[in-house]
Amino acid sequence: MGSQEVSTVDWQGKHVTVAGLGVSGIPAARALHERGALVTVVNDGDDERARAQAAELEALGITVRLGDGATLPPSTELVVTAPGWQPDKPLFLAAAEAGVPVWGDVELAWRLRGDNGKKAAPWLAVTGTNGKTTTVRMLASILEAAGLRTAAVGNIGVSLLDAVLGDTEYDVLAVELSSYQLHWAPSLRAHSAAVLNLAPDHLDWHGSMEAYAADKGRVYEGNTVACVYNVADPATEDLVREADVEEGCRAIGFTLGAPGPSQLGVVDGILVDRAFVANRQKHAQELAEVTDVNPPAPHNIANALAAAALARAFGVEPAAVREGLRAFRPDAHRIEHVADIGEVAYVDDSKATNTHATEASLAAYDSIVWIAGGLAKGATFDELVTGAAKRLRGVVLMGADRALIHEALTRHAPEVPVVDLERTDTGAMSEAVARAAELARPGDTVLLAPACASMDMFTNYNKRGEAFADAVRARADESA
Ligand code: ADP
Repeated sequence: MGSQEVSTVDWQGKHVTVAGLGVSGIPAARALHERGALVTVVNDGDDERARAQAAELEALGITVRLGDGATLPPSTELVVTAPGWQPDKPLFLAAAEAGVPVWGDVELAWRLRGDNGKKAAPWLAVTGTNGKTTTVRMLASILEAAGLRTAAVGNIGVSLLDAVLGDTEYDVLAVELSSYQLHWAPSLRAHSAAVLNLAPDHLDWHGSMEAYAADKGRVYEGNTVACVYNVADPATEDLVREADVEEGCRAIGFTLGAPGPSQLGVVDGILVDRAFVANRQKHAQELAEVTDVNPPAPHNIANALAAAALARAFGVEPAAVREGLRAFRPDAHRIEHVADIGEVAYVDDSKATNTHATEASLAAYDSIVWIAGGLAKGATFDELVTGAAKRLRGVVLMGADRALIHEALTRHAPEVPVVDLERTDTGAMSEAVARAAELARPGDTVLLAPACASMDMFTNYNKRGEAFADAVRARADESA
Protein backbone atom coordinates (compact mmCIF):
# COMPACT_ATOMS: atom_id res chain seq x y z
CA MET A 1 0.00 0.00 0.00
CA GLY A 2 1.44 3.41 -0.93
CA SER A 3 1.83 5.82 1.93
CA GLN A 4 -0.80 8.29 0.83
CA GLU A 5 -3.58 5.71 0.52
CA VAL A 6 -6.02 5.37 3.35
CA SER A 7 -7.13 1.90 4.35
CA THR A 8 -10.71 1.53 5.42
CA VAL A 9 -11.86 -0.96 8.00
CA ASP A 10 -15.48 -1.91 8.42
CA TRP A 11 -15.86 -1.58 12.18
CA GLN A 12 -19.55 -2.44 12.34
CA GLY A 13 -20.01 -5.34 14.75
CA LYS A 14 -16.27 -6.03 14.99
CA HIS A 15 -15.18 -7.39 18.39
CA VAL A 16 -12.30 -5.23 19.56
CA THR A 17 -10.51 -5.60 22.89
CA VAL A 18 -8.84 -2.43 24.12
CA ALA A 19 -5.98 -3.22 26.52
CA GLY A 20 -5.56 -0.59 29.21
CA LEU A 21 -7.72 2.22 30.50
CA GLY A 22 -5.58 5.27 30.16
CA VAL A 23 -4.48 8.19 28.04
CA SER A 24 -4.58 6.15 24.86
CA GLY A 25 -7.10 3.44 25.80
CA ILE A 26 -10.08 5.64 26.64
CA PRO A 27 -10.08 7.72 23.41
CA ALA A 28 -9.42 4.52 21.42
CA ALA A 29 -12.40 2.77 23.00
CA ARG A 30 -14.65 5.76 22.31
CA ALA A 31 -13.53 6.17 18.70
CA LEU A 32 -14.07 2.48 17.94
CA HIS A 33 -17.42 2.38 19.69
CA GLU A 34 -18.56 5.42 17.67
CA ARG A 35 -17.70 3.49 14.51
CA GLY A 36 -19.90 0.57 15.47
CA ALA A 37 -17.31 -1.78 16.94
CA LEU A 38 -18.25 -3.98 19.92
CA VAL A 39 -15.61 -2.80 22.38
CA THR A 40 -14.41 -4.52 25.55
CA VAL A 41 -11.81 -2.70 27.61
CA VAL A 42 -9.61 -4.88 29.84
CA ASN A 43 -7.53 -3.37 32.61
CA ASP A 44 -5.20 -4.83 35.26
CA GLY A 45 -6.05 -2.25 37.90
CA ASP A 46 -9.35 -2.03 39.74
CA ASP A 47 -8.94 1.10 41.84
CA GLU A 48 -11.29 4.01 42.39
CA ARG A 49 -10.03 5.96 39.38
CA ALA A 50 -10.38 2.96 37.08
CA ARG A 51 -13.93 2.39 38.32
CA ALA A 52 -14.91 5.98 37.62
CA GLN A 53 -13.43 5.78 34.12
CA ALA A 54 -15.12 2.43 33.56
CA ALA A 55 -18.49 3.85 34.62
CA GLU A 56 -18.20 6.60 31.99
CA LEU A 57 -17.44 4.13 29.23
CA GLU A 58 -20.13 1.69 30.36
CA ALA A 59 -22.67 4.49 30.19
CA LEU A 60 -21.89 4.67 26.46
CA GLY A 61 -22.40 0.93 26.02
CA ILE A 62 -18.77 -0.14 26.15
CA THR A 63 -17.96 -3.27 28.18
CA VAL A 64 -15.19 -2.83 30.76
CA ARG A 65 -13.46 -5.65 32.64
CA LEU A 66 -11.43 -4.42 35.58
CA GLY A 67 -8.82 -6.40 37.51
CA ASP A 68 -7.95 -8.81 34.67
CA GLY A 69 -5.82 -7.53 31.81
CA ALA A 70 -4.43 -11.00 31.11
CA THR A 71 -7.30 -13.00 29.63
CA LEU A 72 -8.34 -12.47 26.04
CA PRO A 73 -12.11 -12.20 25.65
CA PRO A 74 -13.09 -15.21 23.49
CA SER A 75 -14.70 -13.41 20.53
CA THR A 76 -11.87 -10.87 20.07
CA GLU A 77 -11.01 -10.10 16.44
CA LEU A 78 -8.54 -7.30 17.16
CA VAL A 79 -6.60 -6.06 20.22
CA VAL A 80 -5.77 -2.35 20.53
CA THR A 81 -3.16 -1.87 23.24
CA ALA A 82 -1.65 0.96 25.25
CA PRO A 83 1.95 1.25 23.99
CA GLY A 84 3.60 0.56 27.35
CA TRP A 85 2.15 -2.91 27.84
CA GLN A 86 4.96 -5.45 27.86
CA PRO A 87 4.86 -7.63 24.69
CA ASP A 88 5.19 -10.88 26.62
CA LYS A 89 1.98 -10.35 28.59
CA PRO A 90 -0.38 -13.37 28.54
CA LEU A 91 -2.99 -11.30 26.69
CA PHE A 92 -0.67 -10.91 23.70
CA LEU A 93 0.46 -14.52 23.80
CA ALA A 94 -3.18 -15.56 23.69
CA ALA A 95 -3.80 -13.15 20.79
CA ALA A 96 -0.82 -14.55 18.87
CA GLU A 97 -2.04 -18.09 19.45
CA ALA A 98 -5.52 -17.19 18.21
CA GLY A 99 -4.15 -15.33 15.19
CA VAL A 100 -5.66 -12.05 16.44
CA PRO A 101 -3.75 -8.91 15.34
CA VAL A 102 -2.52 -6.42 17.95
CA TRP A 103 -2.39 -2.71 17.20
CA GLY A 104 -1.01 0.10 19.33
CA ASP A 105 -2.36 3.64 19.57
CA VAL A 106 -0.20 4.74 16.63
CA GLU A 107 -1.42 1.94 14.39
CA LEU A 108 -5.00 2.79 15.26
CA ALA A 109 -4.47 6.49 14.48
CA TRP A 110 -2.76 5.55 11.23
CA ARG A 111 -5.68 3.31 10.21
CA LEU A 112 -8.35 5.83 11.22
CA ARG A 113 -6.80 8.82 9.50
CA GLY A 114 -8.98 10.17 6.77
CA ASP A 115 -12.02 8.11 7.76
CA ASN A 116 -13.93 11.19 8.98
CA GLY A 117 -13.78 12.81 5.56
CA LYS A 118 -10.83 14.97 6.57
CA LYS A 119 -7.69 15.07 4.46
CA ALA A 120 -5.26 12.36 5.62
CA ALA A 121 -2.14 14.40 6.29
CA PRO A 122 1.19 12.71 5.62
CA TRP A 123 3.42 12.01 8.62
CA LEU A 124 7.03 13.06 9.10
CA ALA A 125 8.21 10.73 11.87
CA VAL A 126 11.04 11.01 14.39
CA THR A 127 12.38 8.35 16.70
CA GLY A 128 15.67 7.69 18.52
CA THR A 129 16.92 7.20 22.05
CA ASN A 130 17.31 10.92 22.76
CA GLY A 131 16.28 14.19 21.13
CA LYS A 132 12.88 13.13 19.79
CA THR A 133 10.77 15.84 21.42
CA THR A 134 13.24 18.58 20.59
CA THR A 135 13.53 17.50 16.96
CA VAL A 136 9.79 17.13 16.46
CA ARG A 137 9.21 20.59 17.88
CA MET A 138 11.92 22.07 15.69
CA LEU A 139 10.37 20.34 12.71
CA ALA A 140 6.90 21.68 13.50
CA SER A 141 8.37 25.16 13.87
CA ILE A 142 10.02 24.90 10.44
CA LEU A 143 6.85 23.57 8.81
CA GLU A 144 4.87 26.43 10.36
CA ALA A 145 7.41 28.95 9.08
CA ALA A 146 6.78 27.46 5.64
CA GLY A 147 3.10 28.30 6.01
CA LEU A 148 1.97 24.70 6.43
CA ARG A 149 -0.81 23.67 8.79
CA THR A 150 0.91 21.28 11.18
CA ALA A 151 1.24 20.07 14.77
CA ALA A 152 3.86 18.31 16.87
CA VAL A 153 2.13 15.12 17.96
CA GLY A 154 2.81 11.71 19.47
CA ASN A 155 4.41 11.46 22.86
CA ILE A 156 4.06 15.20 23.23
CA GLY A 157 1.19 17.65 23.44
CA VAL A 158 -1.62 16.50 21.19
CA SER A 159 -2.23 12.74 21.00
CA LEU A 160 -2.07 11.20 17.56
CA LEU A 161 -5.65 10.00 17.72
CA ASP A 162 -6.88 13.49 18.60
CA ALA A 163 -4.86 15.02 15.76
CA VAL A 164 -6.20 12.48 13.29
CA LEU A 165 -9.84 12.55 14.43
CA GLY A 166 -10.20 16.16 15.55
CA ASP A 167 -11.71 18.92 13.42
CA THR A 168 -8.46 20.70 12.54
CA GLU A 169 -7.19 20.06 9.02
CA TYR A 170 -3.45 19.51 8.71
CA ASP A 171 -1.16 19.57 5.69
CA VAL A 172 1.45 17.46 7.45
CA LEU A 173 2.09 16.11 10.96
CA ALA A 174 5.41 16.11 12.85
CA VAL A 175 5.18 12.85 14.77
CA GLU A 176 7.27 11.68 17.71
CA LEU A 177 7.30 7.90 18.05
CA SER A 178 8.72 5.79 20.88
CA SER A 179 10.12 2.32 20.37
CA TYR A 180 7.06 0.92 22.18
CA GLN A 181 4.71 2.64 19.79
CA LEU A 182 6.66 1.44 16.77
CA HIS A 183 6.58 -2.11 18.09
CA TRP A 184 2.80 -2.11 17.80
CA ALA A 185 2.52 -0.20 14.50
CA PRO A 186 2.93 -2.82 11.75
CA SER A 187 1.39 -0.90 8.84
CA LEU A 188 2.57 2.64 9.55
CA ARG A 189 4.07 4.21 6.41
CA ALA A 190 5.52 7.65 7.03
CA HIS A 191 6.26 10.06 4.18
CA SER A 192 9.81 10.35 5.58
CA ALA A 193 11.37 9.44 8.92
CA ALA A 194 14.47 10.00 11.03
CA VAL A 195 16.21 7.80 13.60
CA LEU A 196 18.32 10.26 15.58
CA ASN A 197 20.53 7.82 17.50
CA LEU A 198 20.48 4.39 18.99
CA ALA A 199 21.79 3.65 22.48
CA PRO A 200 20.69 0.88 24.84
CA ASP A 201 17.46 1.90 26.58
CA HIS A 202 14.29 0.10 27.67
CA LEU A 203 16.00 -3.24 27.02
CA ASP A 204 13.93 -4.92 29.74
CA TRP A 205 10.82 -4.17 27.68
CA HIS A 206 12.14 -5.12 24.25
CA GLY A 207 14.14 -8.13 25.47
CA SER A 208 17.40 -7.27 23.64
CA MET A 209 19.28 -4.50 21.86
CA GLU A 210 18.48 -6.21 18.54
CA ALA A 211 14.76 -6.20 19.26
CA TYR A 212 14.91 -2.55 20.38
CA ALA A 213 16.78 -1.54 17.20
CA ALA A 214 14.39 -3.55 15.03
CA ASP A 215 11.40 -1.74 16.54
CA LYS A 216 13.03 1.66 15.97
CA GLY A 217 13.85 0.61 12.40
CA ARG A 218 10.17 0.07 11.62
CA VAL A 219 9.86 3.84 11.32
CA TYR A 220 11.60 3.62 7.93
CA GLU A 221 9.27 0.95 6.50
CA GLY A 222 7.46 2.22 3.43
CA ASN A 223 8.95 5.74 3.51
CA THR A 224 8.39 7.47 0.19
CA VAL A 225 10.89 10.34 0.02
CA ALA A 226 13.65 10.15 2.64
CA CYS A 227 15.04 7.89 5.37
CA VAL A 228 17.11 10.26 7.50
CA TYR A 229 19.99 8.71 9.50
CA ASN A 230 22.80 9.91 11.74
CA VAL A 231 26.20 9.59 10.02
CA ALA A 232 27.91 9.44 13.43
CA ASP A 233 25.74 6.51 14.51
CA PRO A 234 26.20 3.75 11.89
CA ALA A 235 23.51 1.62 13.54
CA THR A 236 20.92 4.10 12.26
CA GLU A 237 22.23 3.74 8.69
CA ASP A 238 22.09 -0.05 9.03
CA LEU A 239 18.39 0.28 9.82
CA VAL A 240 17.85 2.26 6.61
CA ARG A 241 19.60 -0.47 4.64
CA GLU A 242 17.35 -3.12 6.13
CA ALA A 243 14.12 -1.19 5.55
CA ASP A 244 11.70 -1.95 2.76
CA VAL A 245 10.95 1.48 1.30
CA GLU A 246 9.01 2.81 -1.67
CA GLU A 247 10.78 3.05 -5.00
CA GLY A 248 12.83 6.25 -5.24
CA CYS A 249 13.05 6.86 -1.48
CA ARG A 250 16.53 8.12 -0.57
CA ALA A 251 18.87 7.61 2.39
CA ILE A 252 19.80 11.06 3.70
CA GLY A 253 22.53 11.45 6.35
CA PHE A 254 23.07 14.27 8.81
CA THR A 255 26.49 15.07 10.23
CA LEU A 256 28.16 17.71 12.39
CA GLY A 257 31.02 17.69 9.86
CA ALA A 258 31.11 18.71 6.20
CA PRO A 259 28.37 16.80 4.35
CA GLY A 260 28.94 14.43 1.47
CA PRO A 261 26.41 14.16 -1.37
CA SER A 262 22.92 13.25 -0.04
CA GLN A 263 23.79 14.62 3.40
CA LEU A 264 23.11 17.69 5.51
CA GLY A 265 25.98 18.98 7.63
CA VAL A 266 27.95 21.93 8.93
CA VAL A 267 30.59 23.99 7.10
CA ASP A 268 32.23 27.00 8.80
CA GLY A 269 29.37 27.50 11.24
CA ILE A 270 26.69 27.15 8.56
CA LEU A 271 24.08 24.40 8.32
CA VAL A 272 24.14 23.22 4.72
CA ASP A 273 22.09 20.88 2.57
CA ARG A 274 23.81 18.68 -0.02
CA ALA A 275 20.83 16.39 -0.43
CA PHE A 276 17.86 18.35 -1.68
CA VAL A 277 19.72 20.52 -4.19
CA ALA A 278 19.96 20.41 -7.95
CA ASN A 279 23.59 19.35 -8.31
CA ARG A 280 24.54 17.62 -5.11
CA GLN A 281 27.94 16.48 -6.39
CA LYS A 282 29.06 20.10 -6.62
CA HIS A 283 26.62 22.27 -4.72
CA ALA A 284 25.46 22.84 -1.20
CA GLN A 285 22.60 25.06 -0.11
CA GLU A 286 22.92 27.25 2.98
CA LEU A 287 20.03 26.66 5.40
CA ALA A 288 20.90 28.50 8.61
CA GLU A 289 23.73 29.38 10.92
CA VAL A 290 24.76 27.34 13.93
CA THR A 291 23.84 30.34 16.07
CA ASP A 292 20.24 30.11 14.79
CA VAL A 293 19.93 26.86 16.78
CA ASN A 294 18.79 27.26 20.36
CA PRO A 295 20.87 26.22 22.26
CA PRO A 296 23.74 25.64 19.78
CA ALA A 297 25.09 22.57 21.65
CA PRO A 298 26.46 19.90 19.28
CA HIS A 299 23.70 17.35 19.86
CA ASN A 300 21.10 20.05 19.35
CA ILE A 301 22.64 21.03 16.03
CA ALA A 302 22.29 17.36 15.10
CA ASN A 303 18.61 17.56 16.05
CA ALA A 304 18.23 20.71 13.93
CA LEU A 305 19.85 19.00 10.94
CA ALA A 306 17.51 16.02 11.27
CA ALA A 307 14.49 18.33 11.47
CA ALA A 308 15.77 20.30 8.49
CA ALA A 309 16.27 17.09 6.49
CA LEU A 310 12.67 16.01 7.07
CA ALA A 311 11.34 19.46 6.22
CA ARG A 312 13.44 19.60 3.05
CA ALA A 313 12.21 16.11 2.14
CA PHE A 314 8.72 17.56 2.33
CA GLY A 315 9.71 20.37 -0.03
CA VAL A 316 10.21 23.22 2.45
CA GLU A 317 12.32 26.13 1.20
CA PRO A 318 15.67 26.96 2.88
CA ALA A 319 14.47 30.33 4.23
CA ALA A 320 11.73 28.61 6.26
CA VAL A 321 14.31 26.29 7.84
CA ARG A 322 16.20 29.29 9.15
CA GLU A 323 13.07 31.07 10.28
CA GLY A 324 11.66 27.97 11.97
CA LEU A 325 14.89 27.24 13.83
CA ARG A 326 15.13 30.85 15.00
CA ALA A 327 11.55 30.76 16.27
CA PHE A 328 12.07 27.48 18.13
CA ARG A 329 12.21 27.61 21.94
CA PRO A 330 13.38 24.47 23.71
CA ASP A 331 11.12 22.87 26.31
CA ALA A 332 11.97 23.41 29.95
CA HIS A 333 14.78 21.43 31.63
CA ARG A 334 16.56 20.63 28.38
CA ILE A 335 19.91 22.41 28.52
CA GLU A 336 18.11 25.44 29.88
CA HIS A 337 20.32 28.37 30.82
CA VAL A 338 19.07 29.52 34.23
CA ALA A 339 21.45 32.33 35.23
CA ASP A 340 25.02 33.60 35.24
CA ILE A 341 26.44 34.30 38.67
CA GLY A 342 29.95 35.73 38.93
CA GLU A 343 30.93 34.56 35.43
CA VAL A 344 29.67 31.04 36.08
CA ALA A 345 26.77 29.77 33.93
CA TYR A 346 24.11 27.55 35.55
CA VAL A 347 22.41 25.13 33.17
CA ASP A 348 19.45 22.83 33.85
CA ASP A 349 19.40 19.62 31.83
CA SER A 350 17.27 17.66 34.29
CA LYS A 351 15.77 15.83 31.29
CA ALA A 352 19.12 14.07 30.83
CA THR A 353 17.84 10.97 32.60
CA ASN A 354 20.18 8.46 30.94
CA THR A 355 23.91 8.34 30.22
CA HIS A 356 23.51 8.88 26.47
CA ALA A 357 21.73 12.20 27.01
CA THR A 358 24.23 13.26 29.69
CA GLU A 359 27.13 12.43 27.40
CA ALA A 360 25.73 14.88 24.84
CA SER A 361 25.18 17.49 27.49
CA LEU A 362 28.67 17.20 28.97
CA ALA A 363 30.15 17.45 25.46
CA ALA A 364 28.58 20.88 25.06
CA TYR A 365 30.81 22.69 27.62
CA ASP A 366 34.55 23.04 28.12
CA SER A 367 34.84 23.25 31.88
CA ILE A 368 32.07 21.85 34.01
CA VAL A 369 30.97 21.39 37.58
CA TRP A 370 28.67 18.45 37.10
CA ILE A 371 25.68 17.74 39.34
CA ALA A 372 24.54 14.13 38.89
CA GLY A 373 22.88 11.13 40.49
CA GLY A 374 19.49 9.62 41.19
CA LEU A 375 18.14 6.25 40.04
CA ALA A 376 20.58 4.57 37.64
CA LYS A 377 18.08 2.11 36.12
CA GLY A 378 20.84 -0.49 35.66
CA ALA A 379 23.20 1.88 33.83
CA THR A 380 27.00 1.90 34.15
CA PHE A 381 28.99 5.12 34.14
CA ASP A 382 32.55 4.20 33.11
CA GLU A 383 32.27 5.30 29.51
CA LEU A 384 30.48 8.52 30.40
CA VAL A 385 33.09 9.52 33.00
CA THR A 386 36.04 8.54 30.79
CA GLY A 387 34.73 10.71 27.95
CA ALA A 388 34.10 13.74 30.13
CA ALA A 389 37.01 13.50 32.64
CA LYS A 390 39.13 16.20 31.02
CA ARG A 391 36.33 18.75 31.15
CA LEU A 392 35.28 18.18 34.76
CA ARG A 393 36.25 20.90 37.25
CA GLY A 394 34.39 19.01 39.94
CA VAL A 395 31.37 16.85 40.63
CA VAL A 396 28.52 17.01 43.13
CA LEU A 397 26.68 13.71 43.57
CA MET A 398 23.29 13.13 45.10
CA GLY A 399 20.55 10.49 45.11
CA ALA A 400 20.15 6.76 45.61
CA ASP A 401 22.71 5.43 43.13
CA ARG A 402 25.36 8.14 43.49
CA ALA A 403 27.94 5.55 44.65
CA LEU A 404 27.93 4.01 41.16
CA ILE A 405 28.99 7.33 39.63
CA HIS A 406 31.45 7.94 42.45
CA GLU A 407 33.12 4.59 41.78
CA ALA A 408 33.41 5.34 38.08
CA LEU A 409 34.98 8.73 38.92
CA THR A 410 37.47 7.07 41.28
CA ARG A 411 38.43 4.64 38.52
CA HIS A 412 38.71 7.06 35.60
CA ALA A 413 39.06 10.59 36.97
CA PRO A 414 40.68 10.25 40.41
CA GLU A 415 42.00 13.83 40.33
CA VAL A 416 38.53 15.41 39.97
CA PRO A 417 37.14 16.65 43.32
CA VAL A 418 33.84 14.99 44.26
CA VAL A 419 31.29 16.17 46.80
CA ASP A 420 29.07 13.31 47.94
CA LEU A 421 25.75 14.56 49.35
CA GLU A 422 24.00 12.11 51.58
CA ARG A 423 20.95 14.19 52.33
CA THR A 424 17.78 13.62 50.33
CA ASP A 425 15.50 16.21 51.97
CA THR A 426 13.99 19.16 50.12
CA GLY A 427 17.00 21.32 50.87
CA ALA A 428 19.40 18.88 49.21
CA MET A 429 19.36 20.60 45.82
CA SER A 430 20.19 23.99 47.39
CA GLU A 431 23.18 22.45 49.05
CA ALA A 432 24.19 20.76 45.78
CA VAL A 433 24.11 24.13 44.03
CA ALA A 434 26.04 25.80 46.86
CA ARG A 435 28.74 23.13 46.79
CA ALA A 436 28.93 23.33 43.00
CA ALA A 437 29.35 27.11 43.24
CA GLU A 438 32.31 26.60 45.59
CA LEU A 439 33.99 24.33 43.07
CA ALA A 440 33.32 26.57 40.02
CA ARG A 441 35.83 29.08 38.59
CA PRO A 442 35.00 32.02 36.29
CA GLY A 443 34.13 30.72 32.82
CA ASP A 444 32.86 27.37 34.12
CA THR A 445 29.39 25.90 33.69
CA VAL A 446 27.51 24.32 36.57
CA LEU A 447 25.49 21.65 34.79
CA LEU A 448 22.65 19.60 36.22
CA ALA A 449 22.66 16.54 33.91
CA PRO A 450 21.91 13.67 36.29
CA ALA A 451 22.26 10.64 33.95
CA CYS A 452 19.64 9.11 36.23
CA ALA A 453 15.92 9.13 36.82
CA SER A 454 14.66 11.48 39.52
CA MET A 455 12.01 9.51 41.38
CA ASP A 456 14.16 8.64 44.40
CA MET A 457 14.09 12.31 45.49
CA PHE A 458 11.61 14.14 43.24
CA THR A 459 8.20 13.51 41.69
CA ASN A 460 9.72 13.74 38.21
CA TYR A 461 12.49 15.40 36.21
CA ASN A 462 10.49 18.65 36.01
CA LYS A 463 10.44 18.99 39.78
CA ARG A 464 14.14 18.20 39.97
CA GLY A 465 14.89 20.89 37.39
CA GLU A 466 12.68 23.39 39.19
CA ALA A 467 14.46 22.70 42.50
CA PHE A 468 17.76 23.40 40.75
CA ALA A 469 16.53 26.57 39.06
CA ASP A 470 14.99 27.84 42.32
CA ALA A 471 18.26 27.29 44.17
CA VAL A 472 20.23 29.04 41.42
CA ARG A 473 17.87 32.03 41.31
CA ALA A 474 18.00 32.38 45.09
CA ARG A 475 21.79 32.61 44.86
CA ALA A 476 21.56 35.07 41.98
CA ASP A 477 19.28 37.30 44.05
CA GLU A 478 21.66 37.14 47.00
CA SER A 479 24.64 38.08 44.89
CA ALA A 480 22.82 40.89 43.05
P1 ADP B 1 13.36 12.55 23.98
O1 ADP B 1 12.02 13.07 23.54
O2 ADP B 1 13.95 11.56 23.01
O3 ADP B 1 13.43 12.10 25.41
P2 ADP B 1 14.32 15.29 24.33
O4 ADP B 1 14.36 16.15 23.13
O5 ADP B 1 13.25 15.48 25.32
O6 ADP B 1 14.38 13.78 23.86
O7 ADP B 1 15.72 15.41 25.06
C1 ADP B 1 16.02 14.61 26.19
C2 ADP B 1 17.44 14.81 26.66
O8 ADP B 1 18.30 14.14 25.75
C3 ADP B 1 17.89 16.26 26.67
O9 ADP B 1 17.81 16.78 27.94
C4 ADP B 1 19.32 16.23 26.23
O10 ADP B 1 20.17 16.10 27.34
C5 ADP B 1 19.45 14.94 25.46
N1 ADP B 1 19.48 15.06 24.00
C6 ADP B 1 18.71 15.79 23.18
N2 ADP B 1 19.04 15.59 21.90
C7 ADP B 1 20.03 14.66 21.89
C8 ADP B 1 20.79 14.01 20.88
N3 ADP B 1 20.58 14.25 19.59
N4 ADP B 1 21.73 13.11 21.28
C9 ADP B 1 21.92 12.85 22.57
N5 ADP B 1 21.26 13.42 23.57
C10 ADP B 1 20.32 14.32 23.25
